[in-house]
Amino acid sequence: MGEKTFEERELILELFPGTSPELLPPGEVLYYRDGEGRVHIQENPLHLVLEPLDAAPSITPLVCEACLRHISRSSGQFFRFGVGSSGRHFRYVALCRDTERCSGSARPGRLREILLRGILP
Ligand SMILES: [Zn+2]
Repeated sequence: MGEKTFEERELILELFPGTSPELLPPGEVLYYRDGEGRVHIQENPLHLVLEPLDAAPSITPLVCEACLRHISRSSGQFFRFGVGSSGRHFRYVALCRDTERCSGSARPGRLREILLRGILP
């Protein structure tokens, strides 16, 4: 069933390359951290790169926006990403520091929402 959806997505992109990402059937969402500490959320052809920020001193717990778990400040981290074509406006998101563990419980729908927030105006 999943595979069929991916094919549909590719077909639509091929036939109508300008289709708004919101209207495409869901694809496979990749969520990973690279060697430089940046987090990537990818759903072909969209790709969002989140820059890690130094944690501000605070004891307030966070909610990870990907897996929706309550996490302590030490196990969470803030990230920012540029919005729109100018990339001069930033949005901020709190995520687990341990991306691999987080990706095990993060729902693709949540990741997709974060991804679209960075892509759509
Ligand atoms: Zn998480």
